[in-house]
Amino acid sequence: RQQEMIEEMKKDSLTKLYNHNTLYDILNDNIKDCLKEYKPLALAILDIDNFKKVNDTFGHVKGDQVLVRLSELMKTYQTDEMILARYGGEEFCIVFIGIEIKEAYAILEEMRLKFSELIFHDIGDTKITFSAGLVEFCDDADNGTALVEKADQAMYEAKNAGKNKIVLYQSKK
Ligand code: GH3
Ligand code: MG
Ligand code: MG
Repeated sequence: RQQEMIEEMKKDSLTKLYNHNTLYDILNDNIKDCLKEYKPLALAILDIDNFKKVNDTFGHVKGDQVLVRLSELMKTYQTDEMILARYGGEEFCIVFIGIEIKEAYAILEEMRLKFSELIFHDIGDTKITFSAGLVEFCDDADNGTALVEKADQAMYEAKNAGKNKIVLYQSKK
């Protein structure tokens, strides 16, 4: 029972995905492991497009249902090699462990397409999309925070390029 409570505290109550703090704990632990074992690691940030409009038009309760639908879709892809988290608000994270970047991109792209095809009947058959940034861990100096910053940068590029897209972070060095 106590163990259950500890596990529950690691999660976000709405979506039951890992919460912000837990994401960083798990991410930093896995960065260390991947460095030791020469395993690939990648991080994605997903941000729902025009979500404020959904809330403003249909209310926050319906907005919450959209968040749950996305989290459920993410869970259908869950394997031992993926950590799913709600970063905050309408932003989600996926850590890909031991998965090559091309494969991570392909999984994310499939998710993007599937989500964009969902029809939300109780919000006027609206279609909803997300944009995502994906970054491969390759700089030894990067910690969880640095990776999130890079994924964020790529995600904003996807927004600027018209949304409903995935952008892979490219090092500017
Ligand atoms: P963009 O396409 O650029 O991402 O635009 P956006 O409207 O999605 O982004 P913005 O950051 O302007 O708005 C995010 C909104 O997410 C604002 C806030 O009301 C809503 N939000 C954050 N957390 C929750 C939540 O837990 N439930 C609901 N329903 N809404 C939330
Ligand atoms: Mg946002
Ligand atoms: Mg958004």
